[in-house]
Amino acid sequence: MSPLHDPFFTPVSGMELPRFAGVPTFMRLPHVPDGDPREAEVEIGLVGLPWDGGTSNRPGARHGPRALRDASTMIRAEHPVSGMRPFEARRCADLGDVGPNPVDMADTLARFEGCFKRLKARGTRPLMAGGDHLCTLPVLRGLAQEAPLGLIHFDSHTDLFPAYFGGTALTHGNPFRAAVEEGLLDPKRMIQIGIRGTLYDRADREFAAAHGIRVIPIEELFARGIADVMAEAREVAGDGDTYVSYDIDFVDPAFAPGTGTPEVGGPNAFQALEVVRGLQGVKIAGADLVEVSPPFDPQGNTAWLAVSIMFELLCVMA
Ligand code: MN
Ligand code: MN
Repeated sequence: MSPLHDPFFTPVSGMELPRFAGVPTFMRLPHVPDGDPREAEVEIGLVGLPWDGGTSNRPGARHGPRALRDASTMIRAEHPVSGMRPFEARRCADLGDVGPNPVDMADTLARFEGCFKRLKARGTRPLMAGGDHLCTLPVLRGLAQEAPLGLIHFDSHTDLFPAYFGGTALTHGNPFRAAVEEGLLDPKRMIQIGIRGTLYDRADREFAAAHGIRVIPIEELFARGIADVMAEAREVAGDGDTYVSYDIDFVDPAFAPGTGTPEVGGPNAFQALEVVRGLQGVKIAGADLVEVSPPFDPQGNTAWLAVSIMFELLCVMA
Protein backbone atom coordinates (compact mmCIF):
# COMPACT_ATOMS: atom_id res chain seq x y z
CA MET A 1 0.00 0.00 0.00
CA SER A 2 1.51 3.33 -1.03
CA PRO A 3 -0.25 6.13 0.81
CA LEU A 4 -1.65 8.85 -1.40
CA HIS A 5 -1.01 12.44 -0.55
CA ASP A 6 -3.44 13.92 -3.04
CA PRO A 7 -6.05 15.88 -1.13
CA PHE A 8 -8.30 15.76 -4.21
CA PHE A 9 -8.91 12.01 -3.79
CA THR A 10 -9.32 12.17 0.00
CA PRO A 11 -12.89 11.85 1.31
CA VAL A 12 -14.28 14.78 3.27
CA SER A 13 -13.49 14.07 6.93
CA GLY A 14 -16.18 14.10 9.60
CA MET A 15 -13.67 16.10 11.61
CA GLU A 16 -13.89 18.94 9.08
CA LEU A 17 -17.53 18.81 8.01
CA PRO A 18 -20.03 16.76 10.05
CA ARG A 19 -21.32 13.64 8.31
CA PHE A 20 -24.86 14.98 8.13
CA ALA A 21 -23.73 18.09 6.24
CA GLY A 22 -22.73 18.68 2.64
CA VAL A 23 -23.75 17.18 -0.70
CA PRO A 24 -23.64 13.36 -0.33
CA THR A 25 -21.31 11.43 -2.64
CA PHE A 26 -20.34 7.77 -2.19
CA MET A 27 -18.25 7.62 0.99
CA ARG A 28 -17.74 11.42 0.74
CA LEU A 29 -15.33 10.94 -2.18
CA PRO A 30 -14.85 13.60 -4.87
CA HIS A 31 -17.41 13.57 -7.69
CA VAL A 32 -15.57 12.93 -10.96
CA PRO A 33 -18.20 12.92 -13.71
CA ASP A 34 -17.67 11.74 -17.28
CA GLY A 35 -15.33 14.17 -19.04
CA ASP A 36 -13.73 15.47 -15.84
CA PRO A 37 -10.05 16.33 -16.37
CA ARG A 38 -9.02 13.94 -13.56
CA GLU A 39 -11.09 10.94 -14.70
CA ALA A 40 -8.07 9.08 -16.10
CA GLU A 41 -6.41 9.07 -12.66
CA VAL A 42 -9.25 7.19 -10.96
CA GLU A 43 -8.26 3.60 -10.07
CA ILE A 44 -11.52 2.52 -8.44
CA GLY A 45 -14.70 4.29 -9.51
CA LEU A 46 -17.96 4.07 -7.58
CA VAL A 47 -20.83 4.27 -10.06
CA GLY A 48 -24.60 4.32 -9.54
CA LEU A 49 -27.01 2.61 -11.93
CA PRO A 50 -30.43 3.92 -10.85
CA TRP A 51 -32.64 1.55 -12.77
CA ASP A 52 -35.01 -1.32 -11.96
CA GLY A 53 -36.49 -2.07 -15.36
CA GLY A 54 -35.62 -5.76 -14.97
CA THR A 55 -37.64 -6.20 -11.80
CA SER A 56 -40.45 -8.76 -11.98
CA ASN A 57 -42.14 -8.13 -8.62
CA ARG A 58 -41.53 -5.41 -6.01
CA PRO A 59 -39.80 -2.42 -7.64
CA GLY A 60 -37.87 0.51 -6.18
CA ALA A 61 -34.19 -0.40 -6.68
CA ARG A 62 -33.93 2.58 -9.06
CA HIS A 63 -33.85 4.68 -5.90
CA GLY A 64 -30.89 2.67 -4.54
CA PRO A 65 -27.90 4.83 -5.52
CA ARG A 66 -29.32 7.99 -3.92
CA ALA A 67 -30.14 6.19 -0.63
CA LEU A 68 -26.75 4.45 -0.63
CA ARG A 69 -24.88 7.72 -1.16
CA ASP A 70 -26.70 9.26 1.79
CA ALA A 71 -26.03 6.26 4.09
CA SER A 72 -22.41 6.02 2.92
CA THR A 73 -21.49 9.36 4.47
CA MET A 74 -21.16 7.37 7.74
CA ILE A 75 -18.24 5.30 6.35
CA ARG A 76 -14.86 6.17 7.88
CA ALA A 77 -11.34 5.77 6.49
CA GLU A 78 -10.03 2.48 7.95
CA HIS A 79 -11.17 -1.15 8.00
CA PRO A 80 -11.45 -2.29 11.64
CA VAL A 81 -9.92 -5.76 11.12
CA SER A 82 -7.51 -5.64 8.17
CA GLY A 83 -6.39 -2.06 8.80
CA MET A 84 -6.86 -1.33 5.10
CA ARG A 85 -7.26 2.37 4.31
CA PRO A 86 -8.65 2.07 0.78
CA PHE A 87 -8.76 5.79 0.04
CA GLU A 88 -5.01 5.97 0.67
CA ALA A 89 -4.19 2.72 -1.14
CA ARG A 90 -6.04 3.68 -4.36
CA ARG A 91 -7.36 6.80 -6.01
CA CYS A 92 -11.10 6.35 -5.54
CA ALA A 93 -13.90 8.62 -6.73
CA ASP A 94 -17.67 8.84 -7.11
CA LEU A 95 -18.18 8.80 -10.88
CA GLY A 96 -21.85 9.70 -10.49
CA ASP A 97 -24.81 7.85 -11.95
CA VAL A 98 -25.19 6.59 -15.51
CA GLY A 99 -28.53 7.96 -16.64
CA PRO A 100 -30.96 5.24 -17.77
CA ASN A 101 -33.75 5.70 -20.29
CA PRO A 102 -36.66 4.84 -17.98
CA VAL A 103 -38.93 3.80 -20.84
CA ASP A 104 -36.49 1.84 -23.04
CA MET A 105 -34.58 -1.19 -21.76
CA ALA A 106 -32.35 -1.64 -24.82
CA ASP A 107 -31.28 2.01 -24.74
CA THR A 108 -30.64 1.79 -20.99
CA LEU A 109 -28.48 -1.33 -21.31
CA ALA A 110 -26.50 0.31 -24.15
CA ARG A 111 -25.91 3.47 -22.08
CA PHE A 112 -24.69 1.40 -19.12
CA GLU A 113 -22.45 -0.80 -21.27
CA GLY A 114 -20.86 2.27 -22.89
CA CYS A 115 -19.87 3.63 -19.49
CA PHE A 116 -18.16 0.40 -18.39
CA LYS A 117 -16.38 0.05 -21.72
CA ARG A 118 -14.90 3.50 -21.19
CA LEU A 119 -13.87 2.63 -17.62
CA LYS A 120 -12.25 -0.59 -18.81
CA ALA A 121 -10.37 1.31 -21.56
CA ARG A 122 -8.89 3.77 -19.10
CA GLY A 123 -8.06 1.19 -16.42
CA THR A 124 -10.63 2.20 -13.81
CA ARG A 125 -12.11 -0.73 -11.88
CA PRO A 126 -15.81 -0.17 -11.09
CA LEU A 127 -17.68 -0.68 -7.85
CA MET A 128 -21.26 -0.39 -9.04
CA ALA A 129 -24.30 0.35 -6.87
CA GLY A 130 -27.67 -0.74 -8.28
CA GLY A 131 -30.29 -0.79 -9.35
CA ASP A 132 -31.70 -4.27 -9.82
CA HIS A 133 -29.59 -7.28 -10.75
CA LEU A 134 -30.08 -6.85 -14.49
CA CYS A 135 -27.77 -3.81 -14.10
CA THR A 136 -24.87 -6.29 -13.73
CA LEU A 137 -25.24 -7.58 -17.31
CA PRO A 138 -24.14 -4.35 -19.08
CA VAL A 139 -21.25 -4.06 -16.60
CA LEU A 140 -20.06 -7.53 -17.65
CA ARG A 141 -20.57 -6.62 -21.33
CA GLY A 142 -18.33 -3.61 -20.80
CA LEU A 143 -15.62 -5.40 -18.81
CA ALA A 144 -15.39 -8.81 -20.51
CA GLN A 145 -14.26 -7.51 -23.91
CA GLU A 146 -11.10 -9.58 -24.25
CA ALA A 147 -11.79 -12.69 -22.19
CA PRO A 148 -14.57 -14.13 -20.05
CA LEU A 149 -14.42 -13.32 -16.35
CA GLY A 150 -14.78 -15.53 -13.30
CA LEU A 151 -17.70 -14.76 -10.99
CA ILE A 152 -18.18 -14.91 -7.24
CA HIS A 153 -21.87 -14.25 -6.67
CA PHE A 154 -23.67 -13.75 -3.33
CA ASP A 155 -27.44 -14.04 -3.66
CA SER A 156 -30.39 -16.09 -2.51
CA HIS A 157 -31.16 -16.70 -6.21
CA THR A 158 -28.97 -18.05 -9.00
CA ASP A 159 -30.37 -15.52 -11.52
CA LEU A 160 -29.90 -18.26 -14.14
CA PHE A 161 -33.61 -18.62 -14.86
CA PRO A 162 -35.12 -18.90 -18.32
CA ALA A 163 -37.01 -15.86 -19.52
CA TYR A 164 -40.07 -14.76 -17.58
CA PHE A 165 -43.59 -15.45 -18.90
CA GLY A 166 -42.20 -17.74 -21.59
CA GLY A 167 -40.74 -14.83 -23.57
CA THR A 168 -37.17 -13.88 -24.36
CA ALA A 169 -36.91 -10.69 -22.30
CA LEU A 170 -34.06 -9.98 -19.97
CA THR A 171 -35.01 -9.60 -16.31
CA HIS A 172 -33.21 -9.44 -12.96
CA GLY A 173 -33.79 -13.21 -12.81
CA ASN A 174 -31.58 -14.11 -15.77
CA PRO A 175 -28.54 -11.78 -16.10
CA PHE A 176 -26.03 -14.58 -15.43
CA ARG A 177 -27.71 -17.00 -17.83
CA ALA A 178 -27.40 -14.31 -20.52
CA ALA A 179 -23.81 -13.57 -19.49
CA VAL A 180 -22.82 -17.24 -19.85
CA GLU A 181 -24.61 -17.52 -23.19
CA GLU A 182 -22.86 -14.36 -24.43
CA GLY A 183 -19.45 -15.70 -23.36
CA LEU A 184 -18.89 -12.93 -20.79
CA LEU A 185 -18.37 -15.37 -17.92
CA ASP A 186 -16.40 -18.61 -17.74
CA PRO A 187 -18.91 -21.00 -16.13
CA LYS A 188 -16.08 -23.19 -14.80
CA ARG A 189 -14.89 -20.16 -12.80
CA MET A 190 -18.33 -19.28 -11.41
CA ILE A 191 -19.59 -19.86 -7.88
CA GLN A 192 -22.96 -18.80 -6.47
CA ILE A 193 -23.31 -18.68 -2.69
CA GLY A 194 -26.36 -18.51 -0.39
CA ILE A 195 -28.99 -19.92 -2.72
CA ARG A 196 -32.40 -20.60 -1.14
CA GLY A 197 -36.13 -19.96 -1.38
CA THR A 198 -39.06 -21.59 -3.10
CA LEU A 199 -38.84 -22.36 -6.81
CA TYR A 200 -41.06 -22.47 -9.87
CA ASP A 201 -38.91 -25.36 -11.13
CA ARG A 202 -35.29 -26.49 -11.33
CA ALA A 203 -34.43 -24.96 -14.71
CA ASP A 204 -31.80 -22.70 -13.15
CA ARG A 205 -30.08 -25.59 -11.35
CA GLU A 206 -30.15 -27.65 -14.54
CA PHE A 207 -28.47 -24.80 -16.42
CA ALA A 208 -25.83 -24.57 -13.68
CA ALA A 209 -25.19 -28.31 -13.74
CA ALA A 210 -24.99 -28.43 -17.54
CA HIS A 211 -22.34 -25.66 -17.58
CA GLY A 212 -20.35 -26.70 -14.52
CA ILE A 213 -21.34 -23.68 -12.41
CA ARG A 214 -20.76 -24.27 -8.68
CA VAL A 215 -23.91 -23.57 -6.62
CA ILE A 216 -23.65 -23.40 -2.82
CA PRO A 217 -27.10 -23.55 -1.20
CA ILE A 218 -27.48 -21.81 2.14
CA GLU A 219 -27.61 -25.17 3.95
CA GLU A 220 -24.13 -25.99 2.66
CA LEU A 221 -22.78 -22.54 3.58
CA PHE A 222 -23.99 -22.93 7.17
CA ALA A 223 -22.93 -26.60 7.45
CA ARG A 224 -19.37 -26.01 6.19
CA GLY A 225 -18.84 -22.51 7.52
CA ILE A 226 -17.85 -19.30 5.75
CA ALA A 227 -14.07 -19.81 5.89
CA ASP A 228 -14.26 -23.20 4.16
CA VAL A 229 -16.70 -22.06 1.47
CA MET A 230 -14.73 -18.89 0.74
CA ALA A 231 -11.55 -20.96 0.38
CA GLU A 232 -13.39 -22.94 -2.30
CA ALA A 233 -14.61 -19.69 -3.90
CA ARG A 234 -11.02 -18.45 -4.20
CA GLU A 235 -10.04 -21.77 -5.76
CA VAL A 236 -12.93 -21.70 -8.26
CA ALA A 237 -12.09 -18.11 -9.29
CA GLY A 238 -8.39 -18.99 -9.62
CA ASP A 239 -5.78 -16.47 -10.74
CA GLY A 240 -7.81 -14.82 -13.49
CA ASP A 241 -9.86 -11.63 -13.52
CA THR A 242 -13.00 -12.15 -11.48
CA TYR A 243 -16.16 -10.13 -10.99
CA VAL A 244 -17.89 -10.03 -7.61
CA SER A 245 -21.66 -9.52 -7.59
CA TYR A 246 -23.50 -9.04 -4.30
CA ASP A 247 -27.31 -9.09 -4.23
CA ILE A 248 -28.46 -7.66 -0.88
CA ASP A 249 -31.13 -10.40 -0.73
CA PHE A 250 -28.24 -12.78 0.12
CA VAL A 251 -28.71 -11.39 3.64
CA ASP A 252 -31.63 -12.49 5.82
CA PRO A 253 -34.55 -10.04 5.50
CA ALA A 254 -34.44 -9.53 9.28
CA PHE A 255 -31.27 -7.52 8.57
CA ALA A 256 -31.98 -6.37 5.00
CA PRO A 257 -35.75 -6.10 4.46
CA GLY A 258 -35.50 -3.35 1.83
CA THR A 259 -35.23 -5.48 -1.29
CA GLY A 260 -37.48 -6.74 -4.06
CA THR A 261 -37.29 -10.51 -3.58
CA PRO A 262 -36.48 -11.32 0.06
CA GLU A 263 -35.90 -14.94 1.15
CA VAL A 264 -35.89 -15.94 4.84
CA GLY A 265 -33.26 -18.14 6.46
CA GLY A 266 -30.16 -16.26 5.38
CA PRO A 267 -26.91 -14.89 6.82
CA ASN A 268 -26.94 -12.22 9.50
CA ALA A 269 -25.31 -8.80 9.14
CA PHE A 270 -21.94 -9.95 10.52
CA GLN A 271 -21.85 -12.98 8.19
CA ALA A 272 -22.77 -10.63 5.33
CA LEU A 273 -19.50 -8.76 5.92
CA GLU A 274 -17.46 -11.86 6.74
CA VAL A 275 -17.99 -13.48 3.32
CA VAL A 276 -16.47 -10.42 1.63
CA ARG A 277 -13.40 -10.57 3.88
CA GLY A 278 -12.89 -14.06 2.45
CA LEU A 279 -12.24 -12.53 -1.00
CA GLN A 280 -8.75 -11.39 0.01
CA GLY A 281 -6.37 -12.44 -2.77
CA VAL A 282 -8.96 -12.67 -5.56
CA LYS A 283 -8.07 -10.63 -8.67
CA ILE A 284 -11.20 -8.45 -8.68
CA ALA A 285 -11.91 -6.77 -12.02
CA GLY A 286 -15.04 -5.08 -10.69
CA ALA A 287 -17.81 -5.55 -8.16
CA ASP A 288 -21.34 -4.50 -7.38
CA LEU A 289 -23.97 -4.27 -4.68
CA VAL A 290 -27.49 -4.46 -6.09
CA GLU A 291 -31.20 -4.79 -5.27
CA VAL A 292 -31.53 -2.31 -2.40
CA SER A 293 -35.08 -0.95 -2.69
CA PRO A 294 -35.44 2.16 -0.49
CA PRO A 295 -39.28 2.22 -0.62
CA PHE A 296 -39.17 -1.13 1.27
CA ASP A 297 -36.48 0.18 3.64
CA PRO A 298 -38.24 2.79 5.79
CA GLN A 299 -35.72 2.40 8.66
CA GLY A 300 -32.74 2.77 6.34
CA ASN A 301 -31.00 -0.27 7.87
CA THR A 302 -30.79 -2.12 4.53
CA ALA A 303 -29.00 0.84 2.95
CA TRP A 304 -26.62 1.09 5.91
CA LEU A 305 -25.74 -2.61 5.72
CA ALA A 306 -25.37 -2.30 1.94
CA VAL A 307 -22.84 0.53 2.10
CA SER A 308 -20.97 -1.34 4.83
CA ILE A 309 -20.72 -4.28 2.40
CA MET A 310 -19.58 -1.85 -0.33
CA PHE A 311 -16.79 -0.67 1.98
CA GLU A 312 -15.76 -4.31 2.54
CA LEU A 313 -15.73 -4.81 -1.26
CA LEU A 314 -13.68 -1.64 -1.73
CA CYS A 315 -11.13 -2.87 0.84
CA VAL A 316 -10.59 -6.22 -0.90
CA MET A 317 -10.40 -4.44 -4.28
CA ALA A 318 -7.82 -1.96 -2.95
MN1 MN B 1 -31.70 -12.35 -5.34
MN1 MN C 1 -29.94 -11.37 -7.85
